Amino acid sequence: MNLILMGLPGAGKGTQAEKIVEEYKIPHISTGDMFRSAMKEGTELGMKAKGFMDQGALVPDEVTIGIVKERLSKSDCNKGFLLDGFPRTIAQAEALEQLLADMNQPLDFVLHIDVPQDQLLERLTGRRICPSCGATYHVVFNPPKQEGICDKDGASLIQRDDDTAETVQKRLEVNIEQLQPLLNFYQEKGYLETINGNRDINEVFQDINSKLGELSK
Ligand code: AMP
Repeated sequence: MNLILMGLPGAGKGTQAEKIVEEYKIPHISTGDMFRSAMKEGTELGMKAKGFMDQGALVPDEVTIGIVKERLSKSDCNKGFLLDGFPRTIAQAEALEQLLADMNQPLDFVLHIDVPQDQLLERLTGRRICPSCGATYHVVFNPPKQEGICDKDGASLIQRDDDTAETVQKRLEVNIEQLQPLLNFYQEKGYLETINGNRDINEVFQDINSKLGELSK
């Protein structure tokens, strides 16, 4: 199953991605996570990405396309993949199309998780993540069992540097501008499925699951 998950920051992509990869046993490829771990490890890629990420701007296409190409060439992607946070520009979408054609692994589905913009600010500033396993929580909508502690591994939860109010505003502006042309791009090609993300996490997943189930039949 070759999938792309789309939506504005805070739409619940990370949360739904965790569920999808568990159910369908495909690798979760999140460019944001890849950049964050490169930054944490202090690699050259991390240094390149940091300035852009700290400002809530997009990392340049050639850097981003390069890391996705490398990741998709790994053997665990043979049985499929879930791309999350990529593509974010038309240039990235076109590069991906070429890449998948070369790999002979056509796209199955582009899932767009749709949440009204006014809700996203609240969702993002309340988001907390586990620095050790990457699990995501929300202080109101999806709290851990014990406040500030990851349910999975007991690590102390943190707020991402780019989830503060000013950066969030900027990220939303950048992303709103970029998302619509991509939705149009995939709509025209017949890949787009829009999911109402303004519901309980499990209801959203049930909807995704029934769409993917129909596809895999
Ligand atoms: P995310 O975790 O997907 O919200 O990504 C966090 C940040 O990583 C973004 O604000 C960008 O700076 C960078 N980033 C992630 N994915 C991409 C992409 N496909 N193209 C450019 N920049 C990206």
